[in-house]
Amino acid sequence: MNNENSVNSVNSENQAWDFDFDRQHIWHPYTSMNQAFPVIGVESADGCELTLNDGTKLIDGTSSWWACVHGYNHPKIISAMSKQLNMLPHIMFGGITHTPAIELTKKLIEMTCKPLTKVFFSDSGSIAVEVAIKMALQYWQGIGKANKQKLITIKRGYHGDSFASMSVCDPDNGMHTMFGDAVTKQHFVKAPQAKFGEPVNSGDVEALRHKFISHHNSIAAMILEPIKQGAGGMYFYSAEYLKEVRALCDEFNVLLIIDEIATGFGRTGKLFAYEHADITPDILCLGKALTGGYISLAATLCTDKVAKGISDSPAGVFMHGPTFMANPLACSAANASLDLINEGKWQSQVINLEKQMVAELEEAKCYTAVKDVRVLGSIGVIEMDHSLNAAELQPHFTELGVWIRVFGSVIYIMPPYTISPKQLTQLTTAMKVVAKMISDTPASTKKVFISHG
Ligand SMILES: *Cc1c(COP(=O)(O)O)cnc(C)c1O
Repeated sequence: MNNENSVNSVNSENQAWDFDFDRQHIWHPYTSMNQAFPVIGVESADGCELTLNDGTKLIDGTSSWWACVHGYNHPKIISAMSKQLNMLPHIMFGGITHTPAIELTKKLIEMTCKPLTKVFFSDSGSIAVEVAIKMALQYWQGIGKANKQKLITIKRGYHGDSFASMSVCDPDNGMHTMFGDAVTKQHFVKAPQAKFGEPVNSGDVEALRHKFISHHNSIAAMILEPIKQGAGGMYFYSAEYLKEVRALCDEFNVLLIIDEIATGFGRTGKLFAYEHADITPDILCLGKALTGGYISLAATLCTDKVAKGISDSPAGVFMHGPTFMANPLACSAANASLDLINEGKWQSQVINLEKQMVAELEEAKCYTAVKDVRVLGSIGVIEMDHSLNAAELQPHFTELGVWIRVFGSVIYIMPPYTISPKQLTQLTTAMKVVAKMISDTPASTKKVFISHG
């Protein structure tokens, strides 16, 4: 906190960096207007480094909420966007099309699994999930089973902050209790117990089968994050479980929606995480890294079968159409980002990040307050034995020259794939320093790091 205050006072004469104004008038994600969360000012970013308003440089461990996979200020993405900006930054998509959208759709169909052939563009991940849910419901209307309107999912999930997506977020950590009856009641099964690399836990499959037996007549779709549960706690679960999910969905006539918004485009070591289980979804949600993290864009893909069902439904059309649908500027960023992905360097980059994080984070396993250390692809996690206070810990990380944001009980990094070994070492070192500091803090003072929220 002291750190934040001093940064603010240095800039009090500077009109542009009006931190007081910010505190009084601007909402930041998940914050209170009574008790502001400390913020730092970022002036520019290049590669894997953020430059703050006072000139300090921080190594970025978050890829700006997992999106900026190629690093900041990438010449190819910037040049594609500049070119598009000068030609046509936006045009409505109703009754009009443009080459950035056609090119991007071709790329997405090519990169994803064969059955996915139809693409719907929207502005954010949450809306891509809303669109997926509407697709599933309209599909069953078209098939003449309009009573299939419920969703089923696993606990610990996260699918966004809009109402339908909230309804399938974890019922305990999510926002269900906060909004009561305004959030639709869905079906939940326990999160898979078997970890990534382990065989499936038969009890988990039985629990899901049991739910399907009782409720399949009213269930339109199962939705889940593949392999990695992100905002719900950074868990990596058994690929065999995902395989079983696909089989049960087929057996009980339930569509499978896979939310790859966080995992898509190489993050877990496969281009898409569903490839770990060798399955294909009926509906796929993409976002975050789709544009390389340069501008908001999301996509929902579906199969011919789903598209036909929707088109046969009483409405006859798919009932969704955002104002900024398929924004050309965003499509141009995505096209450049996917060109970089298609060059294929991400594979060795992610493998190398995984190896280095496994080696460097290992040591944290013996710290007393550390519950688990896990790594998958370019995701490195130290799970502590209690919930952490992000506002208290943030200055410790910035002092160590890194940008890392904890949540729940996890200290994690998801850096850009292009990070250098030296920069990555600085991130893992900071993670360990903070985990050790928490472990070594006497119990009586430790509560300062524990979230009471
Ligand atoms: C971030 C995220 C979303 C929501 O995306 P927004 O762009 O923040 O609306 C949905 N699903 C998953 C798995 C995510 O990680």
